[in-house]
Amino acid sequence: MSLRSLPSVDAVLETDESASLLRTLPRPAVTDAIRAVLAESREAIRADPNRDAPAADVVARRAAERIRAALTPELPAVVNATGVILHTNLGRAPLSAGAIEGLVCAARGAVAIELDVSTGRRGQRDAHVAGLLAELTGAEAGLVVNNNAAALLLAIDSLARRREVIVSRGELIEIGGAFRLPEVLQRAGAVLREVGTTNRTRLADYEAVLSRRTGVLLRAHPSNYRIEGFTEQPSRRDLAALAHRHGVPLVEDLGSGALVDLAEYGLPHEPTPAEAIRDGVDLVTFSGDKLLGGPQAGLVVGRAALVRTLQKNPLKRALRVDKLILAALRATLVAYRGAPDVRAEIPTIALLARTEEELIALAKEARDLVAAALPDEFDVAVIPSEAEIGSGAQPTIALPSRALRVRRSGWDAERLASFFRAASPPILGRIHRDELLLDLRAVRHAADLVPQVREATES
Ligand SMILES: *Cc1c(COP(=O)(O)O)cnc(C)c1O
Repeated sequence: MSLRSLPSVDAVLETDESASLLRTLPRPAVTDAIRAVLAESREAIRADPNRDAPAADVVARRAAERIRAALTPELPAVVNATGVILHTNLGRAPLSAGAIEGLVCAARGAVAIELDVSTGRRGQRDAHVAGLLAELTGAEAGLVVNNNAAALLLAIDSLARRREVIVSRGELIEIGGAFRLPEVLQRAGAVLREVGTTNRTRLADYEAVLSRRTGVLLRAHPSNYRIEGFTEQPSRRDLAALAHRHGVPLVEDLGSGALVDLAEYGLPHEPTPAEAIRDGVDLVTFSGDKLLGGPQAGLVVGRAALVRTLQKNPLKRALRVDKLILAALRATLVAYRGAPDVRAEIPTIALLARTEEELIALAKEARDLVAAALPDEFDVAVIPSEAEIGSGAQPTIALPSRALRVRRSGWDAERLASFFRAASPPILGRIHRDELLLDLRAVRHAADLVPQVREATES
């Protein structure tokens, strides 16, 4: 039984490594870290009783690593080999070089974020992106807040407080991380008025409940699921015409908000904000860090008068973005405006647009590098795999990809996964049918998959 061979806290404190830690750190900090490592080992042994207990000096080294990690100023960088391009838990879109430059520049010192330099008077924070947003979507005006959930909250709070918001029962969405449309509406002080059924909602269903109490007619893009078969939803144009006949704004939560037509890259078409505006939607909300490929932000575009109403809502102040986000977002939008090939500028689009040939070549290169770096007991092979966009965009669409399938006799997929997670930086794969796969779709360079061994990661 390995549990009994686990060293005691005192035994670990006796090691040379602990002695050197104790020269610079208070004793309680060192013992806490040792206890945490021992608890982890206990857990690992309980899960897999064949595991050997780590020796006292290994525990001490791990404790030292824990303490070092807690003092590292950077957020932990990882390699995304999950096959999910826009992974919410991994921070979604990687930023473009221009966006990174923009935000570093803004971080360094003072920027005229709310100041009109030519007049010396107070300026508008959102002016740095509003014009670009309008141009890229064909809308009259735009504004920016922290994320799409905030954008929708602001829109509903501004336009439908204590009034009714009409939504089809087929669009009462929940997005990962507890974004539930009915709850957001409730928070904004609106009354949800559901119409139709899960699979079929007709124009007449909306018409029947439109009244003086109606504040907003809301359309939500069911980005993360599909209702298929016997279905019906009115067209966006018909819905807009109906809303306007009754003097009510049509608001659409578009979710991903791709600024380019994904069909150009052989992917299914994803509705764009420009299309929604063209079809008569009065306000469109979408995320900055999904298919747009920018920083986390929530964008609202649409009619100037409505955007002004949102700007004046005191909630806008609570949801405003800082200079770093604004700088990164501006640079991202400028790239869409000016670049001859968006793929070359926006990493998210580049990852989406990768061809199978490119992925095959990348996978072969990665296999050779990884196999050469690992001991012979590891078996590394290239296999076809299926990646996904992530963040709720087109979840039913599998993006063709390639993955490294890693095996080692006597090790299950969990153990392999934890081996790669223990590398520096950690490499995050995915487990599929009890095999560890390192998917290449969201990996930039083949060499990223070579595990760099960290101290004290053995056993
Ligand atoms: C992702 C998504 C949201 C939430 O957007 P965040 O930017 O993560 O706040 C809301 N609605 C839809 C349809 C989405 O796809």
